[in-house]
Amino acid sequence: MILRAKEVLKEVDNQATIIAATKYFDVTQMRELYKQGIHHFGENRVESFLSKAGPLQDVPIKWHFIGTLQTKKVKKIIDQIDFLHSLDNIKLAIEINKRRSSPLKCFIQVNISNEESKHGLNPDEVIPFIEELLSFDKINIIGFMGMASYTKNKEEIRSQFLKLNRLLEAVNTKLNLHLKDLSMGMSNDYPIALEQKSTYLRLGSVLFKKEVE
Ligand SMILES: *Cc1c(COP(=O)(O)O)cnc(C)c1O
Repeated sequence: MILRAKEVLKEVDNQATIIAATKYFDVTQMRELYKQGIHHFGENRVESFLSKAGPLQDVPIKWHFIGTLQTKKVKKIIDQIDFLHSLDNIKLAIEINKRRSSPLKCFIQVNISNEESKHGLNPDEVIPFIEELLSFDKINIIGFMGMASYTKNKEEIRSQFLKLNRLLEAVNTKLNLHLKDLSMGMSNDYPIALEQKSTYLRLGSVLFKKEVE
């Protein structure tokens, strides 16, 4: 595997923070990505997170949890992560608020693709959800996370990212907040996400090339 973080960092040019999706990488490759300049890493699974965060304790990584987090597993990791991208239900929020020792930066996951998916709130559920969370002292909402449909249709992707971007403005106006962050854009659609003012890209496959023999 050839890592190409430097090229991608150059292309993104500090317009957004790159989070490397760790599901593709082992600990050695993560050290190399860190050396190439990627300092934020995102894991999907609690078990994989624990098996990687341990051996990498000497590296000052910013850890993001980007997958679905089951309420019963919160206590295993919650004080070891810096960001959560998948907050979408009140039970999870209550458990985090109980277990976490300092405010956790959270993205509310929003379903922007209209696909049948269990994950993410519908846009119209977001304001009541935030209102409920305002009194939670360990939950620091910083913005929204969304995944666009997996399609070649760029207009469709663009309109989904635009939806999240507009939602941020609407929520800030309605609730008098100053949420700034949008976690949107993966390997196949991050240039479009950047056009739509994404601040965190979650990238996996674009960060490496398979070696060909
Ligand atoms: C794997 C993963 C990514 C990155 O995937 P690529 O398409 O390879 O860039 C981003 N977000 C989440 C939640 C993921 O699980």
